[in-house]
Amino acid sequence: MAYDVEKIREEFPILRRQIGGRPLVYLDNTATSQTPERVVRAVVDGYEQRKANVHRGVHTLSQEATDRQEETRRKVRDYINAASEQEIIFTRGTTEGINLVASSFGSLLPEGSEIILTVMEHHANIVPWQLLAERRGLTIKVVDVDGPQGVLNQEQYRSLFNEKTSMAAFCHVSNVLGTVNPVKEMIAYAHRAGVPVLVDGAQASPHMAIDVRDLDCDFYVFSSHKMYGPTGVGVLYGKEKWLEKMPPYQGGGEMIKHVAFSGTTFADLPFKFEAGTPDFVGIAALSQALDFIGELGIEAIGSHERELTRYTQERLLNDFEGIRLFGTAPEKGAVISFLYKDVHPYDVGLLLDKMGVAVRTGHHCAQPLMDRLGIPGTVRAGFGAYNTREECDMFLAALRRILPFFG
Ligand code: PMP
Repeated sequence: MAYDVEKIREEFPILRRQIGGRPLVYLDNTATSQTPERVVRAVVDGYEQRKANVHRGVHTLSQEATDRQEETRRKVRDYINAASEQEIIFTRGTTEGINLVASSFGSLLPEGSEIILTVMEHHANIVPWQLLAERRGLTIKVVDVDGPQGVLNQEQYRSLFNEKTSMAAFCHVSNVLGTVNPVKEMIAYAHRAGVPVLVDGAQASPHMAIDVRDLDCDFYVFSSHKMYGPTGVGVLYGKEKWLEKMPPYQGGGEMIKHVAFSGTTFADLPFKFEAGTPDFVGIAALSQALDFIGELGIEAIGSHERELTRYTQERLLNDFEGIRLFGTAPEKGAVISFLYKDVHPYDVGLLLDKMGVAVRTGHHCAQPLMDRLGIPGTVRAGFGAYNTREECDMFLAALRRILPFFG
């Protein structure tokens, strides 16, 4: 079936909005994607027709809500090809997933051991490990990039492993550079050294097929809101053998088998890690987002986005003077980060907004990478399933209009 972007756009009411009298060109998909009507309807349906707490009631509404939540769990399992739904933990997002692993799995890491991260990590994949390191006297080692091209130094990565290394964590795709890291090879290397790996998949899950069994990662985390789903929902995949060994992250209802003041026993997986009432309405609606992706095909979405990225990147380089690109790795996702001369990215973003174009500006929660590249931030355009070649041209035309203002 042909990729019909106009038909896809019809599902997104927000794309018909005007910003300052101009059609919205939404290129901030790296931060969050827009939401198709079917997902919004599922949220409304959850509140209007099915609002009852999950896993606690015998009554019909509670069973319906529970069924819908657990249906999403099975769809997520299939989406990432996990071995079982016991390995799928619902969280609030990527950030909570990493905090859960750093806190719970982290408590099992030997004191004085070392964790390997990379310089291109989002703060969500840095700070939880720093908190753990401080608590337990661990050391963090950092893999460097080759420079503005944004390719991880694999030789240096391998050189960081020694008998003290207890954990490695890195992103599948960089949210600034778009670099698609060779995570399968990196995981295999870590495993040869007996080191488990967490992959931050926040920027991969909306754009490419994920197969956690093929990758053989120990943990994989991502967020629903970046993949056409509702906010407030995320997924932590963990290998059952680790999840079984890990202590609970939070205590409360849902995560227990039996509570007594003489001692408490915990629920089986995945519920051991799902204390309290989850966002069951959002989780149920995520199912619709997975259907949306499934109908288009993640490969088709990814190739559509890469084509837009390639086109826009080429035009930026060929038609403009003074544009510096950050992230030109051979394996690259749907993100373009750039600067115009020495102009602050914020100023470019502000003027683009006046032209109806939504881009992100700033450090993108990757300050160590900005420091490494010696820049304050970038202007970042990120593409989604519904973006068009025409929108790329509108973005380029807007740039052509505003850049002369900066001299
Ligand atoms: N990691 C990466 C690579 C990201 O791009 C983001 C979101 N910008 C996060 C982690 C954090 O995701 P969330 O805010 O949804 O928890």
